[in-house]
Amino acid sequence: MRSSEFSLIERYFRDTGLNQKSTILSQGDDAAVIQVPTGYQLVTSIDTLIEGVHFPESTAAADIAHKALAVNLSDLAAMAATPAWFLLSISLPDTNEKWLEEFSQSLKSLAQQYQMELIGGDTCQGLLSVTIQVNGLVRKNQYVTRSGAQLDDLIVVSGQLGNAALGLAHLQGKTKLPETLDSECINALNRPVPRLCLADFLRKYATASIDLSDGLVGDLRHIVDRSRVGAMIYRDRLPVGEWIETNSLYDYALGGGDDYELCFTLPEKHLDQLNDWNRDNQDCFLSVIGEITESGYYLTENQKIIDLESFQGYQHFGE
Ligand code: ADP
Ligand code: MG
Repeated sequence: MRSSEFSLIERYFRDTGLNQKSTILSQGDDAAVIQVPTGYQLVTSIDTLIEGVHFPESTAAADIAHKALAVNLSDLAAMAATPAWFLLSISLPDTNEKWLEEFSQSLKSLAQQYQMELIGGDTCQGLLSVTIQVNGLVRKNQYVTRSGAQLDDLIVVSGQLGNAALGLAHLQGKTKLPETLDSECINALNRPVPRLCLADFLRKYATASIDLSDGLVGDLRHIVDRSRVGAMIYRDRLPVGEWIETNSLYDYALGGGDDYELCFTLPEKHLDQLNDWNRDNQDCFLSVIGEITESGYYLTENQKIIDLESFQGYQHFGE
């Protein structure tokens, strides 16, 4: 490693987040060492964001940092894990101090918020791309997978769908949002909220779960396939903003990517717990959008039944 690279890491990435008590060795050696506490399992996931593919070139450094960590945290949330450590591999076209300052500040603030520690990574020169690997803990076998959905389970999603995809379409000039809405949707695109607040709820009640990165229809299909069941979604139950509803832009909610909400299945007997949750958590409202069936994958829309088998999922930016 060159000394300039070393000082860059020291300056911007040292002391990021919150020290974990089971970190044996953090940044600075050839590898980090962590101790998984007795009775727990390590849950690990990795995601890459490439400029021009996963975010537009105009995206601010602080937004890139937030999104790179948030999308990874969203995967841990879907597994009902508690985040603890992460690694950052970053490829930079040049050493732009202002950019690095903004990037690292934003990364630090999100890492603090979710009490994670940056224990290592890699830094190189090249086209702008950010890869984060997150590691979290679950009590032994308490993780939630995509494969446990059962016949008659309710299909539930958190928050609102389609806002991030609307924000991206607005930035790309594919749609024009009113001024009152554009910053909200662009914020949904750049600053997704990982739904870690749902981890306990999922662990207690959900049979399967997934985070929504590529659009509801494509992502729910993974639960359907892995659980060997079918599903029926009702369009009029989709949680969408007024703009989507009044202009009938439901494709953004069904196929738009980057929501980072959670979609999970819930035995009907836990509907009371869902209603309790909604009373106490208005900012992470849960909506029942359908149910698990024996087979097939359908959407009910204005009393018509549409086969979702051939529904085209969301294509990433630039693809
Ligand atoms: P090596 O040459 O053995 O791969 P590096 O020079 O890449 O080691 O990294 C030296 C140390 O700095 C390692 O502990 C590594 O984890 C850490 N590191 C490198 N880049 C980053 C980064 N972007 N964020 C956090 N830690 C980093
Ligand atoms: Mg290295």
